[in-house]
Amino acid sequence: MRQSHLFTKTRKTAPKDEVAKNAQLLIRGGFIHKEMAGVYSYLPLGLRVLENIKRIVREEMSALGAQEIIMTALQRKELWETTSRWSDEVVDVWFKSQLRAGGEVGFGWSHEEPIADMMRSHVDSFRDLPIFVHQFQTKLRNELRAKSGIMRGREFVMNDMYSFCRGEEEHARFYDQTIEAYMRVFTRVGIGEDTFVTFASGGAFTKFSHEFQTVTETGEDVIYVHREKRLAINEEVLNDETLRELGVTREELQKVNTAEVGNIFNFGTQKSEDLGLVFKDEKGVSTPVWMGSYGIGVTRLMGLLVEKFSDEKGIVWPEEVAPLSVHLVSLAGGSSEVEKEAERVYELLAEHGIEVLFDDRDVRAGEKFADSDLIGIPLRLVVSEKSMAEGGVEMTTRANGASSLVPESNLIERIKKAGVRV
Ligand code: ATP
Ligand code: MG
Repeated sequence: MRQSHLFTKTRKTAPKDEVAKNAQLLIRGGFIHKEMAGVYSYLPLGLRVLENIKRIVREEMSALGAQEIIMTALQRKELWETTSRWSDEVVDVWFKSQLRAGGEVGFGWSHEEPIADMMRSHVDSFRDLPIFVHQFQTKLRNELRAKSGIMRGREFVMNDMYSFCRGEEEHARFYDQTIEAYMRVFTRVGIGEDTFVTFASGGAFTKFSHEFQTVTETGEDVIYVHREKRLAINEEVLNDETLRELGVTREELQKVNTAEVGNIFNFGTQKSEDLGLVFKDEKGVSTPVWMGSYGIGVTRLMGLLVEKFSDEKGIVWPEEVAPLSVHLVSLAGGSSEVEKEAERVYELLAEHGIEVLFDDRDVRAGEKFADSDLIGIPLRLVVSEKSMAEGGVEMTTRANGASSLVPESNLIERIKKAGVRV
């Protein structure tokens, strides 16, 4: 990708009304565009990051055996009335609209009801189960406060998965496998250490739901963690009873600010009973399906990575999600020799399948370096008169600033050694 072709501009300052660090840096780097509070467009660099996160999530969901679908954004009022969740008093984030032909529709803030209803067309007997499905969806939620940048959108991308099982045991096994798969996602994007499976409220059937909470100063949530046991409790369920049940004391726990990156629920048979999702068991008896619901906040995760991996100069993307792996900066300053050499390096990297942002623009060195720091690609290569005189390319790691001169003959090997995706 040539930077001279990229239509997005970097900027020195973020919009005045943008208070969240993640959105400030992402807007300044040209990753996203702010339409209004809580509503952001994803531009070429931002979309690449989003797609990388989605790729990781998709791999882990497929490994669980989940099949990918896309449900609709417009939803039927009657369905949500059946489970008493249409009312704004019960669900305070609904966006709703009138159909010109008459009647009312809701904009999908969740897809639990529609998918349970849809499955009635595909589940007859015990032979049809279990079923696992997932999707990447733009959810619409009328959030009261949208001050956390892309971490709390009124429009945001979620990966939601649903499990349909024959009984408690089959359900429990899949639920536990999902916890592991979610943790693998968080480990792969670089936040495994800081992410805790957390006991939280909201269990429709069980007492607790499980949240995945990541430690971050700017997080909106507060949890209490036991680091050795890797056990965590959301403050909303922290009481004597919970402590006793989990076998820990308040003194052993550390209070930390976190962001919720995922949340999983066990519905038992409740939702299936409400919506009439049943199957015939081995004896031909009509039985309600066991249902689980699982969600990862894909765009929130992207915002969180910026919050956690950035410094005073800009973003420091973890390799697995970086928009591109290498930022090749040509400091030609009018020298056609340097220009040619940079072009050659660009082609060499492309031949080896390395994703490169090539700063081939005719701007000052200082501006190029500032943009490179802001955009945060893991490895920077500089081709200049100086590097050529020294017989190589200057390689700098964004994360720690470590720099060295690499002879061109060693370049590919050194890049691969640095852990670059190829
Ligand atoms: P929160 O408590 O933060 O409002 P929630 O409990 O309503 O979130 P869920 O319905 O469980 O969220 O959604 C699953 C995941 O989607 C959450 O764990 C979170 O990562 C993400 N998410 C929820 N709301 C938003 C939002 N407004 N913007 C971005 N991501 C969100
Ligand atoms: Mg939640």
